[in-house]
Amino acid sequence: MDDHLFTYTLYALCLSVPLTLFIFKRYRLNKEAQEVWHDTLASGLTEPPTLHPLFDPELCFGSGSCVKACPENAIGLIDGKAMLINPASCIGHGACATACPVGAIKLVIGTESRGVDIPQLKPNFETNVPGIFIAGELGGMGLIRKAVEQGRQAIDFIIKRSRNGAHHDVVIVGAGPAGISASLAAKNHNLRFVTIEQEDTLGGSTLHYPRGKIVMTSPMNLPIIGKIKVNEINKEMLKILWEDIVNKAGIKLNFSERLEKIVQRDDEFSIVTSRATYLTRSVLLCIGRRGTPRKLEVPGEELDKVVYRLADPEQYKGKHVLVVGGGDSALESALAIAESTDATITLSYRGNAFNRVKIKNRERIAKAQETGRVSVILESKVVEICHVTALLDQKGTAIAIPNDAVIVCAGGILPTQLLEETGIHVETHHGKAI
Ligand SMILES: Cc1cc2nc3c(=O)[nH]c(=O)nc-3n(C[C@H](O)[C@H](O)[C@H](O)COP(=O)(O)OP(=O)(O)OC[C@H]3O[C@@H](n4cnc5c(N)ncnc54)[C@H](O)[C@@H]3O)c2cc1C
Repeated sequence: MDDHLFTYTLYALCLSVPLTLFIFKRYRLNKEAQEVWHDTLASGLTEPPTLHPLFDPELCFGSGSCVKACPENAIGLIDGKAMLINPASCIGHGACATACPVGAIKLVIGTESRGVDIPQLKPNFETNVPGIFIAGELGGMGLIRKAVEQGRQAIDFIIKRSRNGAHHDVVIVGAGPAGISASLAAKNHNLRFVTIEQEDTLGGSTLHYPRGKIVMTSPMNLPIIGKIKVNEINKEMLKILWEDIVNKAGIKLNFSERLEKIVQRDDEFSIVTSRATYLTRSVLLCIGRRGTPRKLEVPGEELDKVVYRLADPEQYKGKHVLVVGGGDSALESALAIAESTDATITLSYRGNAFNRVKIKNRERIAKAQETGRVSVILESKVVEICHVTALLDQKGTAIAIPNDAVIVCAGGILPTQLLEETGIHVETHHGKAI
């Protein structure tokens, strides 16, 4: 009997150690997830931007597989159930849905309270306007690999429309992953094409990732170049990779040229850009979902010192920099310059507080303000940008500050307007599975 008791006690002890560790780990994960969710609620960033997981609480038994699978740390376990604790960072990888052992996750676009506009596309990527095609994230699928695939495939359909007549077979708009891949395919098929990009460099959304971000992707098959075996790569190396690809293939991209209007002329299109007008048989929109940076519309904005994205903080060493905006990208730009240079930084925002930003950014900017690294001027707007100064207005008081550079982070004008003006049908998705 004593022997049995000893054996049972031994078994119980052996089981209790992993069980205690498991319970402790669960407790810790729950606590961490609660903290992140609390910050999310406080910052108001509760809506996922695009494709995201929808969890079925009846089926979810809290295996945590989705938490482990998410490379963006967007999912957590609260009270034993998975949920999107950091929706703003979800980019729709879908790795969570694949990892779930009980099929408790479906991928959807939009939420009950926030609709996401997706253009209606045929299987050949053509919109309801014959000759206008869409590839990449604008069509609803947000991943580099998907964008690359779609850019290439769309050109395969566009070839069928090419005919003598118009000066171009296709105008490709955007030089993100979809536009790069489409341009390679167009060159590969000897199409007469032009690619325009509103920014001064290529890469699209990948340019805007946080510094050093590890990009998760999978091997890509690029026309002319062939298979590129890449799974994890940091943002900076990815930029070099895009540049190498374009140089190797010898394709020309027209930078700093923005699409402004598409005018249909019989079965051809006039593409009006900020620099030229092109006559083409087809248009391929690879413009993503970020839109076009919103301008301040003030005198002096055309000066070269005004930019809409922080590229390299180091370039502002010793300068007087004005950052305009009150969102995360404005705060992160001001902080990045403050941390890596001795620049004099002013942050101008029209609101009276930084409400819709990550708590961490709010705390960091308050600290930078306290230590004098960043001067924050709330309830102010830029009135004029001059060569060596910038003029602000704060509730009727004029403020002139020395200025060498302006970084405008005032959000973007979404592509929906352009699509609607062109007659492309868009559908608003409120949590529709795709
Ligand atoms: C923070 C973040 C992290 C991400 N991480 C990953 C990741 O790890 N792995 C992954 O696979 N995906 C990731 N993604 C998603 C991925 O970046 C996008 O799905 C992909 O870049 C979409 O490619 P695209 O070519 O369709 O559009 P985009 O990359 O958005 O490119 C669109 C291009 O069109 C240009 N454009 C727009 N309007 C005009 C106009 N009117 N005239 C001229 N040019 C115009 C833009 O300037 C831009 O260069 C992430 C996204 C974000 C925001």
